[in-house]
Amino acid sequence: MELYQLPAHELHEKLLAGEVSAVEITEAVYDRIEEVEDNVQAYLNLMKEEAIEQAKKVDQKLADGEDINPLAGIPVALKDNLSTEGIETTCASKILEGYQPPYNATVVEKLAAEDVVMTGKTNMDEFAMGSSTENSGIKNTYNPWDINRVPGGSSGGSAAAVAAGEATIALGSDTGGSIRQPAAFCGVVGMKPTYGLVSRYGLVAFASSLDQIGPFAKDVTDCALALNYIAGHDEMDSTSVDREIPDYTANLDGDISGMKIGVPEEYFGEGIDDEVKESVWNAIEQLEELGAEYEEVSLPHTDYGLSAYYLIAPAEASSNLARYDGVRYGHRSNQANGLIEMFKKTRQEGFGDEVKRRIMLGTYALSSGYYDAYYKKAQKVRTLIKEDFDEAFAEYDILISPTTPTTAFEIGDKSNDPLQMYLSDICTIPVNLAGLPALSMPCGVDSNDLPIGLQIIGDHFAEEKILQVAYALEQATDLDAELEL
Ligand code: GLN
Repeated sequence: MELYQLPAHELHEKLLAGEVSAVEITEAVYDRIEEVEDNVQAYLNLMKEEAIEQAKKVDQKLADGEDINPLAGIPVALKDNLSTEGIETTCASKILEGYQPPYNATVVEKLAAEDVVMTGKTNMDEFAMGSSTENSGIKNTYNPWDINRVPGGSSGGSAAAVAAGEATIALGSDTGGSIRQPAAFCGVVGMKPTYGLVSRYGLVAFASSLDQIGPFAKDVTDCALALNYIAGHDEMDSTSVDREIPDYTANLDGDISGMKIGVPEEYFGEGIDDEVKESVWNAIEQLEELGAEYEEVSLPHTDYGLSAYYLIAPAEASSNLARYDGVRYGHRSNQANGLIEMFKKTRQEGFGDEVKRRIMLGTYALSSGYYDAYYKKAQKVRTLIKEDFDEAFAEYDILISPTTPTTAFEIGDKSNDPLQMYLSDICTIPVNLAGLPALSMPCGVDSNDLPIGLQIIGDHFAEEKILQVAYALEQATDLDAELEL
């Protein structure tokens, strides 16, 4: 195995044993980037100089006999909606071209405090709106398993970077599935934590009541490790929850005897590929062999999730994106006469089609006379969806479903049909509406040798249980798939 293929916990062992240096690890990852990035296009922006400097610091600590943290010297990529001080942060939007935040997002600060090596900023759907990264205002990213296919989205660059060995771990954000769906398409582990567990300070807002930052990793252990270091209360985010953060790696022992699994029938219905269903069911049976029990359960309001989401998320987005006016951030039109025209032209030139569509949808849904009919009703549906989950978690420890209805689709397949694109998040959106944690992990491959993702959903703050089950399944699964790139 090459260094760029190894998970962080193995690299850490090698660092402690003196088998490799942090600089060697960092260089291995940048060599890999050099080798495959033309095909994958995961990054918008590389930070090689800073990365090597950071790696040298870790090597110095080791040479001085100092203790290092488990993520020290580990190459981590950041989605380009995470603010990085002095480093361009664009959300893959022309409107933020050239914008250099004056501060770091809390998660970036936390990783820096661990001596993590930050490799660069990754491509995404513009302002995290999309499911294929084709809405990026800058370029497409390609799926490392088949470069004619999308990596998923909106965190497609982060998922592709980890899958292709261009980063060991990556951070993304998930508003309706943007970590789990690309993780499923790229065959990596991706986790959306409970709303409020990870600070959103410095995450460029899309839909504030749904957005949550989380990790992409090569395996479950790395996912747990990354969560250990990004979770925690932050007074800079008023929705951040003040509670004890456990060690998320503590339950990774493969023991799941007596665990009660619910299998929501609505997630196996029409529109879900047979190959996906079969693979997820095989995994559930495997968990039964490992000592868990399962039962089918109904979450009757699932069908309304997508409609509620596409009112609530655009409504919040229309408000959040009002700040891009050509005065405070990034691009300003120089084609305008006067202030009002400058606002209009800046937004016309700076935003892509999908972002404009969402702003229009959201503005309409919030307008007087329609607010009660659309926005308020959607919020009521949101409560019903949450109550479905509450009832299920009174009986079951976790729920298991497919992450996505299909495996990765071809570039261009859905980019002209927004509704088809929206449907790719049908299994992930209800989780955000309810504020729950969920993880996607590979559970098999389809007949095209593309990875299939399985979703494990937990009750609020039940991340430890999710990771426990994921780890047990990972140990029992032989994916039998090798990425050729
Ligand atoms: N694909 C969904 C959307 O377009 C979810 C995006 C996300 O989670 N950021 O809104």
